Amino acid sequence: MGEPLISVKDLRREFRNGDEVVAVLKDIDLVIERGEMLAIMGPSGSGKSTLMNILGCLDRATSGTYKVAGRDVANMSADELAELRREHFGFIFQRYQLLPDLDAVQNVEMPAIYSGMEAGSRRKRAIELLTRLGLGDRLDHRPSELSGGQQQRVSIARALMNGGEIILADEPTGALDKKTGEEMMKLLAELHADGHTIVLVTHDQNVANQAERIVEISDGRIVADRRTGDDTARELVEAPVRRASRWTEGIDRAFEALRMAVRAMGAHKLRTFLTMLGIIIGIASVVSVVALGQGSQQAVLAQISSIGTNTITIAPGSGFGDRTAGRIRTLLPTDADAIAQQSFADSVTPRVSSNATVLYRSLSVSSSVTGVGPDYFRVSGMTITEGVPFTQTSVTDRSQEAVIDTNAQSALFPNGEDPIGQVLMLGKVPVRVIGVATGSSFGPGSGNANIYLPYTTVMDRMLGRNYLNAITVRVADDYDMDEAEAEITALLTRLHGGATDFFLQNSNTIRDTIQSTSQTLTLLIAAIAVISLVVGGIGVMNIMLVSVSERTKEIGIRMAVGARGSDILQQFLVEAVLVCFVGGAAGIALSFAIGAILSQFVSTITMSYSTLSIVVAVLSSTLIGVAFGFFPARSASKLDPVDALARE
Ligand code: ADP
Ligand code: MG
Repeated sequence: MGEPLISVKDLRREFRNGDEVVAVLKDIDLVIERGEMLAIMGPSGSGKSTLMNILGCLDRATSGTYKVAGRDVANMSADELAELRREHFGFIFQRYQLLPDLDAVQNVEMPAIYSGMEAGSRRKRAIELLTRLGLGDRLDHRPSELSGGQQQRVSIARALMNGGEIILADEPTGALDKKTGEEMMKLLAELHADGHTIVLVTHDQNVANQAERIVEISDGRIVADRRTGDDTARELVEAPVRRASRWTEGIDRAFEALRMAVRAMGAHKLRTFLTMLGIIIGIASVVSVVALGQGSQQAVLAQISSIGTNTITIAPGSGFGDRTAGRIRTLLPTDADAIAQQSFADSVTPRVSSNATVLYRSLSVSSSVTGVGPDYFRVSGMTITEGVPFTQTSVTDRSQEAVIDTNAQSALFPNGEDPIGQVLMLGKVPVRVIGVATGSSFGPGSGNANIYLPYTTVMDRMLGRNYLNAITVRVADDYDMDEAEAEITALLTRLHGGATDFFLQNSNTIRDTIQSTSQTLTLLIAAIAVISLVVGGIGVMNIMLVSVSERTKEIGIRMAVGARGSDILQQFLVEAVLVCFVGGAAGIALSFAIGAILSQFVSTITMSYSTLSIVVAVLSSTLIGVAFGFFPARSASKLDPVDALARE
């Protein structure tokens, strides 16, 4: 017959209790042949379960050798031990150890998932086994809906799922009443007759008498080993495991992990949702901020490009944000005239800015008042839709004529009256409306009512001053911008007696400034959003750790039926990733909802969602799941099967 199926030599198992070392099993020698039915008997606490756990490779001996079919288990890796449990052993526990969230069929199927049996035949075999054990009408019942005897039969079916060549039953009748216990023993006897090797632990003499060999154990030592029946020859079982191909097996197991994750999430909906909340808020803020930043940038850039790229604006001071600029009074209308003489100048307009409250009949509207030249509308890319613009004569005469923009039109003439010819009061100065302009007036005043007057009118009749806020030049189309800038600088420096008390900006520099400031802002807020994502990820890790410790028993059961460490790792990792992935998707949806609501109520806000930011958001939430789920998942996969099983 060759090597015995099970052979134990000089086996010793010690437990450490604080400083004290207790030897629970001592000098155990035991040989079990294929096809035997053996009862291990002894009083409570004598070490029967400890021996059983070692035989089942759930636990390891402290010293001595244990060989299964000639192979020393001490030399086997954790994965090889899992394979042994999966392919050769079938466990039956006193307390059944079924997974409460799975129905009977799913519980029975479990060992075959880890051995890679194809899903269809797996289910078929589980149903066959349950039907054979008289549970054909209880297939989709959960353990809580089954009696003790029925649960024990489900666990027998599970033990047989992958063949159950060696059935290890630890007090299988211990939790059952007398009659059900007798039925259970009859079943085990039938399995024995079918050729299964059966090792049974009991403290009940009547139960032990069913076996053909009784090993008595007392205080960790074997004290008797006697045969009560004869070992009749019989056919031995063969494992029915049909393997799927490696490729579909991987998919099958990943799919199973996904199903288990969904089930686990569904079992704790509120907790799962609260965990997701961090991810949802993080992703929603990342996507929204990026969309908002891009949207406003695009809006501003669209306004700039409608002005055209060939304008140069000359302003007093040394650059943007020069706080002394307000005291510089050297930019004069004569500078504008001088520039207008140059060959590069297509058109030139001076600019004087002010604010005023405009009265029309009973309406009063606060407006930006800009004094400009007749070319202003051409320079800034605006069009006159009604009436006429000013002429050079208007400027020379300081005429009290005004062109209003459409914002001012709708504020002052809300009932659609014709504004042309109407007289507005700008403070004490009456002006007559001669035209309406539309187009881009960009910058801080873009939402305001704008009123344009000849710059001479604003300077002499309103402000009483002789210097300008800015001069804007439109450079002739065929002229080089850099050259024009150089000529303007040279000309004005000469006119200002050598002082460079002005600076130039063209629409490109404005665009660059806007782009870089809004990018800085987006980066800043995105950094805050990333922090909230990390916080969300830590929340995920926290909950996964709780989940692992809460489900230690489940992990133990899965390992007992042959799950590898990598299966457990995968299961918890998939769960963490799923939480983050679903949270990420919800976050994106939330961001779209925020965008839709904002655009309903705040017309000045434009959000521009980019596919890139959404893809990055989904990827990053998935990554968070992997990163923060890994640690709890790995600690779950490293659990010792026997410790995990013992956990309540
Ligand atoms: P039986 O199944 O025969 O009732 P066990 O094998 O469960 O006995 O336990 C035998 C002895 O070993 C008991 O005294 C028990 O307290 C001790 N024991 C079992 N497991 C552990 C452990 N993990 N740590 C410390 N002592 C243990
Ligand atoms: Mg026990």
